[in-house]
Amino acid sequence: MIKIWKNYDHVPEEIALTFHDIEVLRCGQAVSKQYQKDETSIGDLSTLRGMLRHLYHSTCGYCEGKFPPYQIEHYRPRKAKPTKSAMQWEKHAGYAWLCHEWSNLLYSCGACNGGKLNQWPIHVSGQRVQKPPAEFQDWRANATIMQGEKPYLLNPELDAPEEHLYFCPTGTICFATERGEETIHLCKLNRYDLVIRSRKYIIDQAREDIRQALLNFDQGYGGQRLSQQAFKQKLTDCFKPLICRLVQGQLHTEPFSLLHWHILHDIEIFCIAQLPQEIRAIFQKMAPLWRDIQCEFEEQVRIALLKNNMPEIFTRLMAIVEQQAVSQEKFNQELKYLFIPVFYDFVFLLGGNQQQFFHNIEGLAPIQQKLLKQAWKLCCHDGRWRFQPIRQTQGVSIRLKHAGKEAGT
Ligand SMILES: [Zn+2]
Repeated sequence: MIKIWKNYDHVPEEIALTFHDIEVLRCGQAVSKQYQKDETSIGDLSTLRGMLRHLYHSTCGYCEGKFPPYQIEHYRPRKAKPTKSAMQWEKHAGYAWLCHEWSNLLYSCGACNGGKLNQWPIHVSGQRVQKPPAEFQDWRANATIMQGEKPYLLNPELDAPEEHLYFCPTGTICFATERGEETIHLCKLNRYDLVIRSRKYIIDQAREDIRQALLNFDQGYGGQRLSQQAFKQKLTDCFKPLICRLVQGQLHTEPFSLLHWHILHDIEIFCIAQLPQEIRAIFQKMAPLWRDIQCEFEEQVRIALLKNNMPEIFTRLMAIVEQQAVSQEKFNQELKYLFIPVFYDFVFLLGGNQQQFFHNIEGLAPIQQKLLKQAWKLCCHDGRWRFQPIRQTQGVSIRLKHAGKEAGT
């Protein structure tokens, strides 16, 4: 699962509801919208699909895979799930009134959507929303009344997936919380193609790369007497391509980004432990230096990626500025949503350190620096965004807490 930043105020025109539409939906009747009719004919060209595709980086919001064709997924299902066998808190009458609600529309692959279907279990202590709330604002997924349902299914637009899910070297996705467990179950996140063909494949490839890097290092410099500085430099040179690839894989635009983070930060568990004894011995000799090399080089790669992405980000920003009569409020909103994912990628490494962040953007043009600083302030002042290195602290504690639990998932 990936973290998605969606602006709930920026509703695509195809699903914008009139006062009349809201009243019709409230009465339990259907409202016809253009995007439903276009599902097969216009497909990905429709504005709604285009916006979702862009927001989700052509990636499934649940499994993080790039498995087209994608579907517009209703987080709260439109249809009822009244089956007698279902537990009381799994029964519901459907949320047909939310079928055009922007915050209820996610982007998902067919397999995840097909696994979940109309299931919508809520926590036993949750309060089921049985009918449309009186205030239209309360129809939003982040409204207090909707959150009060305590849904089990994680929402990539509202939850921090890394607090609930983590990975094992076999490619299995594991849970750290009850909601994580239920999400894996609902969307079948441990299905064969995801575990074996996608995640295990990525892990095996990283393991092979590190095996090769360790062998190359041993054969090239193993017998040489090198100063510590030279030793570290040679090691860095050998590991550069691997670290580069694993950092790039962590960007929010890439599939299985959370897995890439786990591989790089838990390399002993994901890669080294499965290698033959003689290769493990090579790693053991350099183990004390590995963390330094990984941190330093990861930082360099991330900063380089950030700077490389700047021209494209600013082009998009300028397109917004050039729009006629864009208000300061709208501009700030666009600025915030444009940079949140960038900061998310960046601060995971730098731990949300403002000083370090500003230091690293010093080489950019003054106008770019000014806008970046403005965006940073806007994002930090918005209580919804947490700029803390969640993965760095949580990942380790989750792993320790749940070590050995894989067999039970
Ligand atoms: Zn999926």
